[in-house]
Amino acid sequence: MSCVILVADGARPDTLRAAMDAGHLPALDALRRAGGAHDVTSVFPSVTGPAWVPFLTGRHPGTVGIPGIRWWDRTGARAYAHGTARSYVGFEALRQDGDLDPAVPTLFELAERPLAALTPLGRGLPDGARLGTAIHHWPRLAWTHFRGDIAGWLRLERALAAQVADRVDAGRPDLVVFGHQCIDKLSHLRGHGAPEVLEALRLVDAMAARLADDAARRGDPLHLIVVSDHGHSPVTGHLDLAGWLRAMGLGVRAHPFPFLGGDDVAVMVGGNAMAHLHLELTRPARPWWPRLARRWDPVVTALLDTDAVELALLPIAPGHCEIRARGGRAEVVRDRHGYTYRALDGDPLGLASALGASGAVEGLDADAAHAACAATPFPDALVQVLALADGPRAGDVILSAALGWDLRARWEPIPHRSTHGSLRAAHLQVPLLTSWPLARPPRRTTEVFDLARAAMAAGR
Ligand SMILES: [Zn+2]
Repeated sequence: MSCVILVADGARPDTLRAAMDAGHLPALDALRRAGGAHDVTSVFPSVTGPAWVPFLTGRHPGTVGIPGIRWWDRTGARAYAHGTARSYVGFEALRQDGDLDPAVPTLFELAERPLAALTPLGRGLPDGARLGTAIHHWPRLAWTHFRGDIAGWLRLERALAAQVADRVDAGRPDLVVFGHQCIDKLSHLRGHGAPEVLEALRLVDAMAARLADDAARRGDPLHLIVVSDHGHSPVTGHLDLAGWLRAMGLGVRAHPFPFLGGDDVAVMVGGNAMAHLHLELTRPARPWWPRLARRWDPVVTALLDTDAVELALLPIAPGHCEIRARGGRAEVVRDRHGYTYRALDGDPLGLASALGASGAVEGLDADAAHAACAATPFPDALVQVLALADGPRAGDVILSAALGWDLRARWEPIPHRSTHGSLRAAHLQVPLLTSWPLARPPRRTTEVFDLARAAMAAGR
């Protein structure tokens, strides 16, 4: 066996570190001593599904067809149960495999004998190698079924982990991916700092311990990666974004009834603390912001005047996006010189103040762009903004919620005390632990893909 990826879904790096420091997670602590523990950035939108794309493909989700957990298919080419409105929440969860760019190989396709459980993306897994799909119609179906049954959820995940560990022992798969989802579910339900979340983290620790013990007994080398796909932060304010836009007199389509409502705007909340707004739905091709600005500028301004919306991204052209906050505008450009951030009449990403620069930050490669954003409230924002805004399925306006807010007041089956999805550090920063020391500190979850490929190659 060569490589196991345990995804501690929704675990924040500070939460994990504190639990390891306190001695609650001995196997993960041993992992961190043997290999290392790093803080890295996930992707925007910071939500399960899109945020697994980097692990499994090494790519940003918007660039390979998964711009959010909900999006509007303007071309109509991939219509399914909700027509041209896609939602991976509920029974369409498994549609992500088909929406993912077929030209981009997944780790499962690159592995010889892959095995996975509770993965939102599974393209390349052979029959019988994808466990937990029956309860994978989370959160709507599974959560309404198990609503509030915390012990039941922990029991379910523990049983699946045991099943996977048994199969690892018996069949020696070369790649194993396991989604530990209870951390996220319990964080939403109880708050990320709740004692139940520690119980969920202990399941990850127990799985790591079991796999390490079994591998040692067999004399097999084990490359173990523990990573999260997004963070969490408390939420008390809920803006009913679709309702708010209807109150502006606009024809709005939104889940759960996206067939009705008019053709002005489709509201696709893609991670609860972010949303794609697809505008003027009768246009067959993406219009881009310059053609929309005259009509929609006042709507964006009004949205930014609410307490709920912190940033509005306005894609102008491929490689060019305006970023707007209540305090002003800037633009990010990617060209042959690299990434450039230019203040127009403000500094919405906080970059100029972080760097002590006035005006523009110019010509950065992706690594330098990551470093430039590290001390700001929006880590890796230069790369993340364009990686999402450039995607052909992205909204014409992309919103990132303010801390303390999400963008869905109704239709959520789970009471939400905690949220994620935005560009904020609390949602974008995640832990990455490896059982072997890395040559250089990793920056992004896209690197998990390369680490896993190297580990699989080493095991051959
Ligand atoms: Zn979640």
